[in-house]
Amino acid sequence: MEWKKSVRAVTPYIPGEQPQNGKMIKLNTNENPYPPAPGLKKLLCDTDTDRLRLYPDPDVTLLVRALAEYHGVDDNMVFVGVGSDDVLAMSFLTFFNSDKPILFPAVTYSFYDVWADLYRIKYETPALNDDFTINVGDYSRPNGGIVIANPNAPTSVAMEPSAIEGIVASNRDSVVIIDEAYVDFGGKSVISLTGRYDNLLVVRTYSKSRSMAGVRIGYAVGNCELIKALNSVKGSFNSYTMNMLSIAMGTESLKDEEYFRSVIAKIIHTREKTKASLESLGFKALPSQTNFLFVTHETVSAKVIFEELKKDNVYVRYFNKPLIDNYLRITIGTDEEMDVLLERIGRICSP
Ligand SMILES: *Cc1c(COP(=O)(O)O)cnc(C)c1O
Repeated sequence: MEWKKSVRAVTPYIPGEQPQNGKMIKLNTNENPYPPAPGLKKLLCDTDTDRLRLYPDPDVTLLVRALAEYHGVDDNMVFVGVGSDDVLAMSFLTFFNSDKPILFPAVTYSFYDVWADLYRIKYETPALNDDFTINVGDYSRPNGGIVIANPNAPTSVAMEPSAIEGIVASNRDSVVIIDEAYVDFGGKSVISLTGRYDNLLVVRTYSKSRSMAGVRIGYAVGNCELIKALNSVKGSFNSYTMNMLSIAMGTESLKDEEYFRSVIAKIIHTREKTKASLESLGFKALPSQTNFLFVTHETVSAKVIFEELKKDNVYVRYFNKPLIDNYLRITIGTDEEMDVLLERIGRICSP
């Protein structure tokens, strides 16, 4: 049993529940309620399965090129991974190797501390302001790297690009990772700053705005030296992370900008409508630039609402954590789903 001393002991990230029974309203993992671009269906039907005998392109050339064109950057400024979790994990491993602690907000995506622990990276977590905004001044202390989700999760609150530029500009000796998982829902991207700052890496995902959580595509945009370093680490791990079908589907999705925009517009519309309805039921909602709302009720505890909703087969996200344990994170579904949610919540919270 001596081997037990040499086991890498880690506490894993716990994703939202993925109940596998059909009949439920699932508003707990920020999936998109609308299907991905219609072109994907045709692509899958037309796929010649004989091609699957071969290994996929380890450089993911087709998708890298399509993403570079989409964002107006050079091909050597794009790195692709299997979901942004893969890209972020790879980035922590590649860029956070200093003796100084990395910095990320006390309330943010709860995978950051898991990766830091896994790779034995020291970290400090500056508190948020009372309104859940990020205090830029907290990121001027000595550090071995910075990671910020913008808009932040699970708070839904976005930061201005000028504030992020301030952090990037005052930390030229650290890599600053901006996780833009939700930026398409009304936030402002800092991808355009990657040409000017060689220490800025912007990470994106297909899981939320492109309705493709099941396909697992994430990517990073940054200076070619950052991308080269990421590719070297990835190539030392597994050459063929992205499968052939994902590469094709990821490329196809980018071709239908009109459909993409229409889905996002619908979600933003539903979000604002739902926010107003929740406020009329006694909730306070933070200003959201995402596909979810972060809410607290004036009298009924978040835990009670969470549990009562679950009995009704409505799943939202509850975090049993300091500072946010009286909040719920509610994904924006279809208008019909939100109507059911509001009806049930209305019953739970009526005086
Ligand atoms: C959902 C999410 C991710 C991970 O998304 P993938 O499905 O792995 O692409 C990363 N960061 C934040 C803040 C998220 O909410």
